[in-house]
Amino acid sequence: MVLIWAEEKEGILPRSTLEVLSMGKKIAEPLGEELGAVLIADSNRAAGTLGKKGVRKVYAADDPALRDYRTEPYTQIFTSLIEEHHPSILLLSHTSSGKDLAPRVAARLNVGLISDCTQLDLQDGSLVATRPMYTGKALAQVTLPAEMNPKIFTLRPKAFPASEKEEGGECEVIIVEVPQLMARTEVLELKKTPKGSLDVAEADIVVSGGRGLKGPENFEIIEELAQALGAAVGASRAVVDAGWRDHKDQVGQTGKQITPKLYFACGISGAIQHQVGMRNSKCIVAINKDPNAPIFKLASYGIVGDLFKIVPLLTEELKKIRD
Ligand SMILES: Cc1cc2nc3c(=O)[nH]c(=O)nc-3n(C[C@H](O)[C@H](O)[C@H](O)COP(=O)(O)OP(=O)(O)OC[C@H]3O[C@@H](n4cnc5c(N)ncnc54)[C@H](O)[C@@H]3O)c2cc1C
Repeated sequence: MVLIWAEEKEGILPRSTLEVLSMGKKIAEPLGEELGAVLIADSNRAAGTLGKKGVRKVYAADDPALRDYRTEPYTQIFTSLIEEHHPSILLLSHTSSGKDLAPRVAARLNVGLISDCTQLDLQDGSLVATRPMYTGKALAQVTLPAEMNPKIFTLRPKAFPASEKEEGGECEVIIVEVPQLMARTEVLELKKTPKGSLDVAEADIVVSGGRGLKGPENFEIIEELAQALGAAVGASRAVVDAGWRDHKDQVGQTGKQITPKLYFACGISGAIQHQVGMRNSKCIVAINKDPNAPIFKLASYGIVGDLFKIVPLLTEELKKIRD
């Protein structure tokens, strides 16, 4: 069986899960294996969607105590499920929870894990993963020993197409006995992002601002441009460290690594640590007053000039087009 973790948010499967799902399906079919999914917490709505998208078995651990991700109980559930059902492959998204959980499960089971894959190919019946190394400067092709089961992979969000087709199938829901939870941690509070604001890791367009904005109040022009484009607002570490923006918006080595279709870098120099997070964007637009700023070496389109003039002009023109 090819098993995926169907991470869900309040009963809805986010795009990152649909990407894992489509890859799971793509692998399971030629291997002649069944596609299964693990659903933890609110399973009712999400199980129906999984069935329609080709999952045949859903292992559901529906316990209110598991509603928020915690490393220890989730590791226990995955470990015992794998020991009982022996899947050959386990796929997770490389989300913050996925990259926390996958190595734990791999270590418990003494099996291999290839993390942050940007491509998965079946070659002569074995899976070959492509993953970036040395902060994205090289791409490595990696496999796991054939006898090792399960082989675990985490998939970089937005590097794979999302499953869109609904085939109307039904899936069997198998209720998983939740083991006596061995949690030494407790979730005290969850701070939700305000409704309507997009996550930089999920958005197709990201408009990021850096120290060139001079102060947090000037992010207003970035937000306006983002709104005109239906984009998420990102930030460099310099402005996050200065307390102008939240860490969840940070793009880069110690922030989020994103691959939007369109990325705007406004007043961002393009330090290597920032590049790590956005260099795989399909199209990069840089606005900087310094023609020698490193960001221009990456940019598909470069605008040399004062962002305080250029950004509002862009917003104005975009609004005209939209209207
Ligand atoms: C271990 C480590 C991890 C790191 N992780 C990250 C990370 O995840 N993400 C990240 O971003 N950084 C990270 N950094 C920090 C990184 O090295 C840079 O310091 C940071 O990216 C700089 O942010 P910036 O481009 O906003 O600021 P600056 O480098 O100060 O650049 C500001 C830019 O704004 C331009 N500018 C100024 N005024 C205007 C104007 N009016 N109009 C147009 N342009 C203007 C300037 O020409 C300049 O290029 C990390 C560093 C280390 C050591």
